[in-house]
Amino acid sequence: MSRKTIVWSPSRIRTLNECPRRYVHFHVVGNGGWPGGPRAQDENVALAWHLGSKRKHSDLMLRATADGVKDWILMKYRGEKWTEKSAKNEMTARMRCKLKENCGDIDDVLVKKMMVDGFPRLSALERAPLISQLGSERVEEWMPLNRLEPHWVGNSRVYTVPDLIAKIGDKWHLVRLTTQMWRRVPSEIQQLELGVMLKWALEEPSLPNSAEQFVIHRIGWVHHRWLGWRKIGSAVWNDASQIMLAHDLKELRFMHLTNREDSILDNLATDNSKQHCSNCGYRKECPQNNHN
Ligand code: SF4
Repeated sequence: MSRKTIVWSPSRIRTLNECPRRYVHFHVVGNGGWPGGPRAQDENVALAWHLGSKRKHSDLMLRATADGVKDWILMKYRGEKWTEKSAKNEMTARMRCKLKENCGDIDDVLVKKMMVDGFPRLSALERAPLISQLGSERVEEWMPLNRLEPHWVGNSRVYTVPDLIAKIGDKWHLVRLTTQMWRRVPSEIQQLELGVMLKWALEEPSLPNSAEQFVIHRIGWVHHRWLGWRKIGSAVWNDASQIMLAHDLKELRFMHLTNREDSILDNLATDNSKQHCSNCGYRKECPQNNHN
């Protein structure tokens, strides 16, 4: 039995479901190939990692914006003054750095465009649902959290921590922030993914032990403004999310057990719809590309 640690996050499972070939190329072949990683000396591994971590400019913009959102919230929590000028400088530096890492070049016209697309998300945060109430009397206590902090389920690392938690009245609000979403109401599968925050909350000793005491929020940027969706937690929701998580972990474990660093990628299923190929770093060597 493999003792390999399996990592679950909504984006990983989405990659696996969209294109198993891409998943294996990045998370199995390229595993450990990041700069300074344990397998970075192996050229094939480093190349697999490098190609798999390529991102579209719009993704880089969203990542830099998400870092800016984190700063905004942390400063609010610490009572520090957020200024547009220093936030703009910080975000420009992040975008330049991400572009350099991703493609080696920095195009200042592109950076300007990325700022025009990304920065309004930061300057509008003070009007975002629930965020606008932080620091007011209505919110008894609140705290930013680190969603990149893993939570262990057996030998698996799962990302279930909310971006922030707030107590309003007798409920605890668990908030997931997203710098880009296409519709306010999450799909059924996204609701199950959001529901994993309940497991984290129920296992926290300082929080209530009943799912009904929590309200799950998804707050995100849709068509030029922040919109929020919320739903009271329930044992049924928590159970359904746990079933989904167990199923996902089984699928991920299977992929890691049946594939190795030297797997023949051409034997793996690809994204036949080609819907996700345009932002994939493996396009050049992928059979799907022959038909593009
Ligand atoms: S180019 Fe498309 S089909 Fe090929 S690995 Fe990437 S996402 Fe999958």
